[in-house]
Amino acid sequence: MKDIYYVLTGLTLGIILLSGCIQQGKDPNINPGTPGATVVNEEIMGGPKQTYPAQQPLGFKIDYSQVYPASATGASGFEMKKAGSGFVAYYHPGDENNANKALAVLEQGGLNLYKKYLGFEPKGVPVYLATSVDEYVNIADFPGGIENVEVGDGSAPNGKIYLYKPFEDSRPGKTEGMIIHEGVHATIYQYLGQDKMRYIPGFLNEGSAHYIEYVFKAGPEFDPLDQIYHSDLLVDSIETGNPRLLGLDELGQKCDGYIAEETLNFLCRGQGAYTVWYINETYGDEAFGKILSDVKQTRDWQKALSNLTGKTTSQFGQDIKDNLKSRVDSMSGV
Ligand SMILES: [Zn+2]
Repeated sequence: MKDIYYVLTGLTLGIILLSGCIQQGKDPNINPGTPGATVVNEEIMGGPKQTYPAQQPLGFKIDYSQVYPASATGASGFEMKKAGSGFVAYYHPGDENNANKALAVLEQGGLNLYKKYLGFEPKGVPVYLATSVDEYVNIADFPGGIENVEVGDGSAPNGKIYLYKPFEDSRPGKTEGMIIHEGVHATIYQYLGQDKMRYIPGFLNEGSAHYIEYVFKAGPEFDPLDQIYHSDLLVDSIETGNPRLLGLDELGQKCDGYIAEETLNFLCRGQGAYTVWYINETYGDEAFGKILSDVKQTRDWQKALSNLTGKTTSQFGQDIKDNLKSRVDSMSGV
């Protein structure tokens, strides 16, 4: 029995390590962007680049046969649109199928998740489908430039979603997960409004987008170390002390805007996702939504966190590290 356990553990580790390598290799546009092109709380970097563990069933089911009504638009630069209740897809003639699918993901998959985990249901968020890389870089104001865009990318600056040839990336679930992720950013933006967006730190903005993406892909009971983007760094950190994990206050200071340093970027996202996962795991599925609502009132995320937890930010940060350590220890059989 023990042998089987070690074999399974070895296999799991192998898959995790292998995923890490594939991800690095497949990541030409990690850290796109030009320093100085910072918009507070926009993407820390370009769209999320994910790995998908083999043999893992996707947690979502979208009915792509549902057709959303199309109509002509006026002056948005796009000739056609399809409207759902939470989102409106703008597209060029010939791209109707992609527009319908993107809308199906957001309306069928996104709305319920945003309502449940953010406590807010968005209305009329625009989603633009670019069909050329020039158009994407231009309309999305993408700071990484043309060389850093790949098919299937997306971004959500300023409450609008921009997609470049969605569903043309062959990795299963990649586009759906990315669309759900960008939908989180757009929903938080609509909820807080432009003036209050700066009060939600980048690591919680990214962390919640990754968290909801993982819930969508792997179900609400997802294993954080299996799903979190570059979770191998979190494991390394616990096992070797390198890279050093950041405290919550430090994450709050260092994770806004453009992040040039790759390890820091991954830690911001990985620790951000683990933080949001831990908050909901400990205080219930609505807990992160309560923090958002509190931030809207108090404009102070540390206060919102301690209102929820009854702890200081540093105490709560230590709780999260302790939890991560016990998870890593049990994963490695200690
Ligand atoms: Zn993001």
